[in-house]
Amino acid sequence: MKKERIIFCDFDGTITVSDNIVAIMKHFNPPGWEDLVQQLVDKKLSLRETVGAMFALFPASRKEEIVSYAIQNAIIRDGFGEFVSYCQDNGIKLLVTSGGIDFFIYPLLKPFPIANENIFCNASSFEGSTIEILWPNKCDAHCQADCGMCKTSIIRSYDANRYERILIGDSISDFEGAKLVDTIFARSHLIDLCKEKGYAYYPFETFFDIMKQLEAEPVR
Ligand SMILES: [Mg+2]
Ligand SMILES: [Zn+2]
Repeated sequence: MKKERIIFCDFDGTITVSDNIVAIMKHFNPPGWEDLVQQLVDKKLSLRETVGAMFALFPASRKEEIVSYAIQNAIIRDGFGEFVSYCQDNGIKLLVTSGGIDFFIYPLLKPFPIANENIFCNASSFEGSTIEILWPNKCDAHCQADCGMCKTSIIRSYDANRYERILIGDSISDFEGAKLVDTIFARSHLIDLCKEKGYAYYPFETFFDIMKQLEAEPVR
């Protein structure tokens, strides 16, 4: 029996040209955000703790300007619309698996026919005095990394015997997932990490590159 293809696609720096959380932080520059990033790099904070603490630097009253900046600033990578159609036409299940936040991901994906249940990201609340990030997709028992939005937990929930699992990503947050899948499409830091560990990967710049490769490669 042929396996069913499933794609786990990152959002920031993958579907969008650059990272939207970094763009928000650089633009509004709340005091302390760079120090939090340094603590993440030094492994003193988990990704979940870092993202939560960075957004807590903003009063919730700044919601409108932050949301509208994020949405206006983002650029969708070439070929993404065609890629969504390609997946639909070929019976490929496309999941967006993102460590980004709902308030920019849902609006930016709205033009594309992707069901909400196939979008996995963090959530947010503006009810308190500062912006609060909520974590509906935390790590399962097999992941101790405190990801916030745990990509490996989602990948594990799709049986490798039944699915040909494909990952598309660009950075360190995609690396643990890359270890699990059959096929890796990589750009930027994820290429360096794959090279370092000797993992096979296909480089991409646009979603047209990915479609071409998927066409060329028969389902396993
Ligand atoms: Mg990314
Ligand atoms: Zn995790």
